[in-house]
Amino acid sequence: MKRSKITKVFFKFPALQFLYQFEWIKKVYKLLFVAKLPNPQYYIELVNQCNAECIFCPYPILRDQGKPQTSISDEFFDQTLALINSEKRSYVSLTPTTGEVFMNPRWDYYLQRILDLDFVEDVHFYSNAALLNAKNREKFFEMRHLDKMSIAFSTGGADRETYQLMFGKDLFSHVERNINDFLRHLSQNEMTIPVSIDIKMPKDRRLAVAIGQSVYNQCEYPYAFVKIRNTFDTFGGLIQNQNIEEMAGVTPSQRKKPCHYLNDIRFAANGEVWLCGCVISELPDHEELKVGHLGQDKDLTQIRAKQRTVQDNWRNKGDVPYTCRKCTWYVAN
Ligand code: SF4
Ligand code: SF4
Repeated sequence: MKRSKITKVFFKFPALQFLYQFEWIKKVYKLLFVAKLPNPQYYIELVNQCNAECIFCPYPILRDQGKPQTSISDEFFDQTLALINSEKRSYVSLTPTTGEVFMNPRWDYYLQRILDLDFVEDVHFYSNAALLNAKNREKFFEMRHLDKMSIAFSTGGADRETYQLMFGKDLFSHVERNINDFLRHLSQNEMTIPVSIDIKMPKDRRLAVAIGQSVYNQCEYPYAFVKIRNTFDTFGGLIQNQNIEEMAGVTPSQRKKPCHYLNDIRFAANGEVWLCGCVISELPDHEELKVGHLGQDKDLTQIRAKQRTVQDNWRNKGDVPYTCRKCTWYVAN
């Protein structure tokens, strides 16, 4: 099933917004949809720098440990497009492992080149929307092939105090206004781009989906789907913050097969090539999922060989990469 079709199922059944808060519904979603997706995706990371400091994200830790903050170079981007042209996949995500798409000042140039690829049918990215100001909205709405797009906005609570607690910055007023203005434009121009609003909540606070809609979707754009997230992956204990609730783990017996997301390939802004686009795939001091570098790999041969080795070692020897051992995003392949 095409990803865009899956997304549209959510908009047909608004009650799913309420149900999506329950962990068992997320598990059903993974089993019914994610694991059945026929084609893995490519991730192209335009930038690995962020303007927030979320308490549930490894970004501040990676940055403070000295990971260089960079935007993708034209050379690496061109090389990435050459590689994905050699093995076409219809779905491309710009969601960086840690970073914010609009921090790349030329994000629109790169996005347009991806949207123009005739074999690409779905393009998706997450943004915290703090930089989705009038100038960036104008650039976005001028693009060709926007019918391929879907977007997810990641935000914290529905008020300034909760936002600051979760995202570590006082950006709520920008985020709330930018998302509303973006949805208003979609609505007024009768566009149907699917938009998820992914609201992160601290431990011991709950938020009704209706409140989330009333704060971020004041124009009632019909293709906006609110998801409330109350639990988080702690990256094997790396994140220790009293304000977040840990997501229930996956037991080793449920983790026998290689993860579905190992089929995905991420081209990082710094030229590295990794398996899986998930935020947990790159942890400090753990590079088991790194399979190449654009500076050395001129085609996908070595990258695909290393990918098969990681998957075969998991399947045949039970050798699970460190980063995957406690990851709650795991989906059996
Ligand atoms: S979760 Fe996203 S917005 Fe928050 S710090 Fe990490 S990369 Fe930035
Ligand atoms: S277990 Fe987690 S880190 Fe490993 S491939 Fe799956 S989603 Fe990525």
